[in-house]
Amino acid sequence: MKYNEIFESAVDALKDEKRYRVFAELERIAGRFPRAIWHNGVDQREITVWCSNDYLGMGQHGHVTDAMRNTVGRMGAGAGGTRNISGTNHPLVALEHELADLHHKEAALVFTSGFVSNEAAISTIARLLPDCLILSDQLNHASMIEGVRRSGAQKKIFRHNDMDYLEALLKEAGSERAKLIVFESVYSMDGDVGPIERICDLADTYGAMTYIDEVHAVGMYGPRGGGIAEREGLMDRIDVIEGTLAKAFGVLGGYITSSEAVVDAVRSYAPGFIFTTALPPGLCAAATASIRHLKASSAEREGQQRQAQRTKDVLKAAGLPVMPSETHIVPVLVADPEKCKRASDLLLEKHDIYIQPINYPTVPRGTERLRITPTPFHDDALIEHLKDSLCAVWDELGLVRETPASAQPTRRKMEIFPAAGG
Ligand SMILES: *Cc1c(COP(=O)(O)O)cnc(C)c1O
Repeated sequence: MKYNEIFESAVDALKDEKRYRVFAELERIAGRFPRAIWHNGVDQREITVWCSNDYLGMGQHGHVTDAMRNTVGRMGAGAGGTRNISGTNHPLVALEHELADLHHKEAALVFTSGFVSNEAAISTIARLLPDCLILSDQLNHASMIEGVRRSGAQKKIFRHNDMDYLEALLKEAGSERAKLIVFESVYSMDGDVGPIERICDLADTYGAMTYIDEVHAVGMYGPRGGGIAEREGLMDRIDVIEGTLAKAFGVLGGYITSSEAVVDAVRSYAPGFIFTTALPPGLCAAATASIRHLKASSAEREGQQRQAQRTKDVLKAAGLPVMPSETHIVPVLVADPEKCKRASDLLLEKHDIYIQPINYPTVPRGTERLRITPTPFHDDALIEHLKDSLCAVWDELGLVRETPASAQPTRRKMEIFPAAGG
């Protein structure tokens, strides 16, 4: 058996489909975000990152880096074990209290990542519910899909944000059966938002449990950064709120907040929580500092919303095909996997701009795009430079730009997600 050849041909298949991923090797510069040094194998050069999920630049915030440095100085670098075996550090418990308070829930549980939190929590909750039916939005993140799969429960996928569809599935399941609705608040590839209130209403009517992924919204929305559900006054109507410490909070780790009963059950039954080393104390202290800061300060959120809106306006005015987005995400449609990758390469090589291409399977084929995430640190001059660079790349690749006067609305959502799901 020629083992290596099997792996090589698996990778070749991805290359043939233009789905092979190449990573850019970057060196972030604390204090100068979003600037970074790009190591391209030959030399190194300073560039601007336009696709970071460190949405508010909290990864370099003084409160956050001080908390990490000080805690490492006092407690050392590692956690020393799993939560069961000597890993439950004081800063980790404090972080869980901070998170429960953020979402006004009884309890919180921290995991190694947002991915693990979804996989472990969804699979465990659905496994503990007798004969559970999971109702899952078509565009849910891979980590949620993994949780649904691992639960072994029956699942039904509803068309993205389609409440009639969801209601029909709930009705069909009947009121006696245990049902878990899993969905997101901000869908990060399109920047649209789930109809949270309507989902809660349906859950009440048909007696379902609700599980929301607020990964792209925590820190970003709501007066204290509790997410879209906080902004809309709905946190108390959702059974489980899941989030990450790695995006707007700028560090690493994932969590759920819920009732004492749900959190205790997941803590007690989820292998992905039990059999892995706890987050180190320095990281926990840094995350707590970040959450506390964003509970009290809206300046970062406001700056981010302002620069995201400005980016959309400036790119649209230049005729670039900005896809409709209700949030801070600015997707620009390329609609061709090869050109999408090429656009990303040209931006980096010629214009010192890093934007990762987003191709299938992350988004449907034909909707390949550049996903731009402005932060409060992307000032007006950087936005201008981005616009000029994108226009130059669009012209070089023969991509269509609309003149603002005759500008058609960019492709509408229904066209982008045709009869998928179901
Ligand atoms: C990034 C992401 C996650 C995973 O969070 P990590 O902390 O990066 O593991 C979960 N859900 C969604 C929607 C995400 O985009």
